[in-house]
Amino acid sequence: MKETPIGSTSNSGSDFIREMLAEDASDGPYGGRVQTRFPPEPNGYLHIGHAKSIALNFGVAAEFDGVCRLRFDDTNPETEEASFIEAIRQDVAWLGFEPGESAYASDYFAQLAQWAEQLIRNGLAYVDDQDAETISANRGGFTTPGVNSPYRDRTVEENLDLFARMRAGEFADGEKVLRAKIDMAHDNMAMRDPVMYRIRNAHHFRTGNEWKIYPTYDWAHGQSDAVEGTTHSLCTLEFDTHRPLYDWFIEQLGLGNDRPRQTEFARLKLTHTVMSKRKLLELVRDGHVDGWDDPRMPTLRGLRRRGYPPEAIRAFCSHIGVARVNGTHEIELLESFVRTHHNQHALRRMAVLDPVELVIDNWPEGVTDERPAINNPEDESAGTRKVPFSGKLWIERGDFMLNPPKKFFRLAPGREVRLRAGYLITCTDVETGADGEVVRIHCDYDPETAGGQAPDGRKVKATIHWVSAQHAIGGTVMLYDRLFTDPFPGADGSDPLASLNPASREVRTGCKFEPSLAETPAGQVVQFERLGYFAHDQQDPLTFHRTVGLRDEWAAIQRRQSQQS
Ligand code: ATP
Ligand code: MG
Repeated sequence: MKETPIGSTSNSGSDFIREMLAEDASDGPYGGRVQTRFPPEPNGYLHIGHAKSIALNFGVAAEFDGVCRLRFDDTNPETEEASFIEAIRQDVAWLGFEPGESAYASDYFAQLAQWAEQLIRNGLAYVDDQDAETISANRGGFTTPGVNSPYRDRTVEENLDLFARMRAGEFADGEKVLRAKIDMAHDNMAMRDPVMYRIRNAHHFRTGNEWKIYPTYDWAHGQSDAVEGTTHSLCTLEFDTHRPLYDWFIEQLGLGNDRPRQTEFARLKLTHTVMSKRKLLELVRDGHVDGWDDPRMPTLRGLRRRGYPPEAIRAFCSHIGVARVNGTHEIELLESFVRTHHNQHALRRMAVLDPVELVIDNWPEGVTDERPAINNPEDESAGTRKVPFSGKLWIERGDFMLNPPKKFFRLAPGREVRLRAGYLITCTDVETGADGEVVRIHCDYDPETAGGQAPDGRKVKATIHWVSAQHAIGGTVMLYDRLFTDPFPGADGSDPLASLNPASREVRTGCKFEPSLAETPAGQVVQFERLGYFAHDQQDPLTFHRTVGLRDEWAAIQRRQSQQS
């Protein structure tokens, strides 16, 4: 399947879910009440896709004066852990929403089992001895009906007895399941006697060894919604075909008119990344990234370390809105929200990532100047700082060329350029090494040009950044590229990991920073002038992660698209 990105569609404002909520609020079945839930499984960390669901569920609850509950869908004991609970709560809070009290599907295990017995008594559920493979094979296909289980017509008494023994732990994993008795020839495969309980002799991080049977998603979800008083159960499109089942359980249990209703919306997908927890786990486990909070990961922890502000993630979610059509958004769109935020808020600093020495031969020996520099041209209240300037500087190797081509306007022999917040300098001489590489650049400065303007009005074509060698502090910078080279990893059915970018991270040690960077708080994002936005690591002082570059790649994509159409 060939995919194309969604482009710049924006749903900001209303959408079909908000319209439905508005309608329900005025004359709906819930007396104007709105209650949603965000139901993560505690088997991994939250990612940007979850952010879409969080922003929607918590967002609409706030807009409609309602409540959103954080409910952990803890129905798979083998893969779930208590440690994820706190992590998920922290991530929800970091994103800017109040997680409130945690609820758990396991809170309702006893109620669910009681309801299952009610269905058995009403002849609507039965214990099946077939194994998982047989059950799957007998479900039939889209054009062929399923085959009834030979155990489908067990008596109520037998079913109640077997179910009680399943609960009591008399059977091994997979020996028996409880199934709803609906219709093995139903057009909707989800309605062909779906499994409600499977046997798992496993330890559950909350209920310990109390339970030997665990409810499936289909059985747990709607009923948990009902117990909690959820009005609107918002889930992703793949549950579309499960909605009749969601409704069937609630109707058979007689849970009344004030019952929850499921509505589906499209999952968030982004180019150049994956969001399946299984694949993210593989990235971590096989060492393709350093961990769940590696800045290349689409996890909220990764994005936070990378320097993505929660405000930008929320603005992105609100821009893309919710719809019922699946599609992939360009990662450059998300990045443009990040860049816009930092452009407003980030302090400007100077850092040289690939340093080469520059000596100002006519600078007075032993003198240090303090150059005033603007902290943020977008925010006057950010003020100015003093940057030490002396006769020996570091500049970017790439800002100098011995034999410049026509379009290169930066430093070259005989050429005059501006040092940001400094002076105009002219290159007078170059020292090269044995292989012809530049080892030292000699310049003269014009003392009349403090601040970068010449009194005679002469113009220079370039401004470059610098750090005073004597005052520089050393550090490390992590430069990131796409984690996957393919914009749609795995879309053609291949393993997404086949398109991992082997050069997704470049570590630059020996970078030279202006001294004020030592005072940058952990986690804070600054703009390195001319280079991009960089986040100070949360643990390692003087290690910076490139959040995004300065160039608006999203604008470039849009220009290309409008030229094509
Ligand atoms: P995975 O299949 O990767 O494990 P999941 O959807 O099962 O993901 P959950 O922890 O069960 O992960 O998800 C919690 C909630 O977040 C669900 O309501 C789910 O629909 C929603 N969600 C997960 N991924 C996305 C996404 N990419 N876009 C929008 N919502 C998502
Ligand atoms: Mg899930």
